[in-house]
Amino acid sequence: MSADTLLEETLIKRSQQKRLTSPLNYKERVFVLTKTKLSYYEFRVEKRFKKGSIDLQKVRCVEMVKNDGVIPCQNKYPFQVVYDTSTLYIFAPSYESRRIWVQNIKEEIRDNSVIVAKFHPQFWMEGVWLCCRQAEKLAPGCEEYNLFGDLSRKLLPPIPGEEVSSASPPPPPPVHSPDDGSGVEEVVIALYDFHGTEPHDLTMTKGGEYVILEKCDINWYKARNIYGSEGYIPSNYVTDKKLGNLEQYAWYSKHVNRNKAEELLRTEDKEGGFMVRDSSKPGAYTVSLYTKSAGEGGAAIRHYHIKETSGCPRQFYLAEKHLFTLIPDLIEYHNHNAAGLVARLRYPVGKERSAPSTAGFSYEKWEINPCELTFMKELGCGQFGVVRLGKWRAQHKVAIKAIREGAMYEEDFIEEAKVMMRLTHPKLVQLYGVCTHQKPIYIVTEFMGLGCLLNYVRQHRDTFSLGSLLSICQDVSEGMEHLEAHGFIHRDLAARNCLVNDALVVKVSDFGMARYVLDDQYTSSSGAKFPVKWSPPEVFNFCKYSSKSDVWSFGVLMWEVFTEGKMPFEHNPNHEVVMMVLEGHRLYRPKKATPNIYDIMLRCWHERAEERPSFSQISILISDALEVDGSSSA
Ligand code: ADP
Repeated sequence: MSADTLLEETLIKRSQQKRLTSPLNYKERVFVLTKTKLSYYEFRVEKRFKKGSIDLQKVRCVEMVKNDGVIPCQNKYPFQVVYDTSTLYIFAPSYESRRIWVQNIKEEIRDNSVIVAKFHPQFWMEGVWLCCRQAEKLAPGCEEYNLFGDLSRKLLPPIPGEEVSSASPPPPPPVHSPDDGSGVEEVVIALYDFHGTEPHDLTMTKGGEYVILEKCDINWYKARNIYGSEGYIPSNYVTDKKLGNLEQYAWYSKHVNRNKAEELLRTEDKEGGFMVRDSSKPGAYTVSLYTKSAGEGGAAIRHYHIKETSGCPRQFYLAEKHLFTLIPDLIEYHNHNAAGLVARLRYPVGKERSAPSTAGFSYEKWEINPCELTFMKELGCGQFGVVRLGKWRAQHKVAIKAIREGAMYEEDFIEEAKVMMRLTHPKLVQLYGVCTHQKPIYIVTEFMGLGCLLNYVRQHRDTFSLGSLLSICQDVSEGMEHLEAHGFIHRDLAARNCLVNDALVVKVSDFGMARYVLDDQYTSSSGAKFPVKWSPPEVFNFCKYSSKSDVWSFGVLMWEVFTEGKMPFEHNPNHEVVMMVLEGHRLYRPKKATPNIYDIMLRCWHERAEERPSFSQISILISDALEVDGSSSA
């Protein structure tokens, strides 16, 4: 085994059947996984012959294959590696071996940009996909793909007939530790305090260093502190202590746009207050700097792009004469020398003070003990029942939704809740857990102090700048981008289904919940409660939901925001709206929306779903609009 080998084992590979007529064969190959490649070799008397290799950067999906047919080779545990337009089927000798391969490859491809939204859970066999019977090999997948879905969080129960055999050969050595074989441990720095809630958690102190022992799933790691104690920590509370990783610095605020940066710097009102943030141009950074003495006694904010030299090695600079290989060195220099800037970079501003939500209260914990909840005031009432403010273990503020008897397909929801809990993003309302062992069942989520977005914009009408309205839309678009990237469809995106917290961050709520509503008036497109005014034609005609139907709804949400809470198609009942939209009629341009901003809405309302922008494109369009229009007031 060479030093950079992560896994090595003899597995069986199915031939790729490039032509339909070529018969399938199954061959033993030695598979080797490294950080960059999955290669397979033929093994003949002490010598290996390389037969093939897949560049991990091209891998779009790795997952076990669900199979209820006969497997014509001795290894009975198939998994698939989808790359480019091909699928490689590999057969492991045991359930555990397959789990380890799938998990390790997933770990290596986690940052790939080409991950599929959907995949085929069963084999391509004799000209059809066994899962969906589509006869086109390149047919889009039929099941939502979640890279860190079931396998990493919780072992899937073995498929009937595929029980874990005690006689199976020992699995390859697990490579749970991110130690890449070089003997160097992965060290992270805590960005926030974390107070473990379960005995198996590890409490962390902001700024402390921790060694990662195991990446249990995308949200939870097992770690060790400097005293040797071990336990689980939330992955979004730490950052790599690697040279050049900006996240470890108090002056870096990744997701702050120009408008928010100005707001934060003005609020702090400190001479030389500054932050480094991501520019609207991908991969570039901007320094936003505040000075109180910009002449005439006024304060001013300047935004400087951090420029790069084109040579090798590339160097960074703000002032042309002062070049640095690392951005932190550049910041340090300008901390002492203005060197052409309006002020020295004296006072870092803007690192989020409050810790983000964790995916559930602890690793593998979705069932919450109702005795640990206290109930406080009522927050509102929705389709499913009453929502109350509460506390978990007398400490953490939460929102508790008590589900009214007969309002929800509870069993289906409880199953899905485990998937939803893993959707963790600063712009999504976090699901913390459920209480399902009693009636009514409770859904426990992040508490959002300022309530629903629709009421918020209505109550603060005429107080928003253009930048603030765009910022609201940007928050929602970023949350939706995360759902889109995970192949998760909202189905009822609207201002009423977004919430605002005390820090004025807007987050998307109730995603996917429409599927569990037990009320014909809401679920049938002719029902009085169906959100026709937020739906594209393919939804009100054929119930064809997709991320692109969410994009249409997003356009309507933008319209709600820019009208500060008007009802879309105010004077038309639903059946008229259907006719109007089919005839090409669209909502008018709100007074506060510039033509450029209205153009984003119009693009969301393209009659053909595939012509609408994706949420990642929308986020860019909004960032651009913020740079152009955002600083002027409405
Ligand atoms: P349902 O999903 O049953 O339709 P909603 O999610 O719309 O219910 O909630 C009803 C109301 O309760 C919302 O309009 C809002 O005012 C309040 N609410 C819901 N969830 C929260 C939360 N997490 N934090 C604060 N208020 C909330």
